[in-house]
Amino acid sequence: VHSVTNVHRIACIPGDGIGVDITDAAIHVLNTLSATIGGFEFAFTTFDWSSKNYLERGWYMPPDGLEQLKKFDAIYFGAVGWPNVPDHISLWSLILPIRKALNQYVNVRPTRILQGTKSPLSESVCKPSDLDWMIIRENSEGEYSGQGGTSHEDSPYTVATEVSIFTRVGIERIMRFAFETARSRPRKKLTMVTKSNAQRHGMVLWDKVFYEVAKEYEDVEIDKMLVDAMTVRMVLQPKSLDTIVATNLHADILSDLAAALSGSIGIAPSSNLDPTRANPSMFEPIHGSAPDIAGKGIANPVGAFWSAAEMVRWVGEEKAADGLMKAVENVTARGVKTRDLGGSEDTKGVTEAVCREIEDLF
Ligand code: ATP
Ligand code: MG
Repeated sequence: VHSVTNVHRIACIPGDGIGVDITDAAIHVLNTLSATIGGFEFAFTTFDWSSKNYLERGWYMPPDGLEQLKKFDAIYFGAVGWPNVPDHISLWSLILPIRKALNQYVNVRPTRILQGTKSPLSESVCKPSDLDWMIIRENSEGEYSGQGGTSHEDSPYTVATEVSIFTRVGIERIMRFAFETARSRPRKKLTMVTKSNAQRHGMVLWDKVFYEVAKEYEDVEIDKMLVDAMTVRMVLQPKSLDTIVATNLHADILSDLAAALSGSIGIAPSSNLDPTRANPSMFEPIHGSAPDIAGKGIANPVGAFWSAAEMVRWVGEEKAADGLMKAVENVTARGVKTRDLGGSEDTKGVTEAVCREIEDLF
């Protein structure tokens, strides 16, 4: 009997702080998953592109770093950022160039309340089944274009411009992805978020393209919100939302709010996708390096496992992806949780519990 083993080549960038702890945990769980199910395995290559190394050697990624990443099937990212490096330096040295160079123009952020976890919202506004959202974030342009500049620096007349760039091509492709996502979900409902009352160019183009693309998806129920009112609706009427599409900045903020409403920022995953599959996509929990708890072994690894599950699905191992999420939820349902979720376990305790659960499931 011959058995074929699919090898998925994964580039790992643990980065800083708890990024290192949770990437270790994710690799451990992924190895348990492939060893238990069989038929596929992961070949991990780790890159030490971190703020610590930046402070020692002056760079995050080597000059051919982006070219190196292109050889992989997917990228797993921990977190980047450290107190003594300005955040805009770490972001623009690593994560933003990767997203741009690898055409990862979609950022997908699912949010729901996992079994055994609780929303800070009271049950009268949010029963556990009421919050089940898919946030689609534009990941390549908008407010994070990096364009702009500063003049008359260090004088009372300093002027800084931060230019948002919105293109029809960029908006159309994110809208199509959002409509396809909405169509694939049971409620077939898409809410589009802008600030087109106060921002009269880019945001108005967003609205316009949204209604144009909507004509191709008549089976999807559509709905438009201003971002300020959207924050209120997320808190007071969570059940009224399903799939959400928003710009780079707006969706960044709304997805942190969504994560908090679902119980903890420590559980939320994100996928940076190149839907054309010409380049590897990148998977990372939405939380940061959390310097306040780094090195203590108490970080919640659930966001890392959920991100890993999305990666496993993207490389084509559906059954393994479902199994991993089932294992994670069985563990949280039993109350095996870190402190941010009101439990008393540490990173290792949750990781081992998820591994044992995987072995029991398959
Ligand atoms: P970044 O700028 O990289 O987004 P940040 O400082 O804004 O980082 P986080 O690093 O995500 O934000 O941390 C915000 C808060 O949430 C911190 O108090 C941190 O301890 C907590 N936190 C974040 N991730 C986790 C996790 N996985 N487990 C437990 N607590 C977490
Ligand atoms: Mg943050």
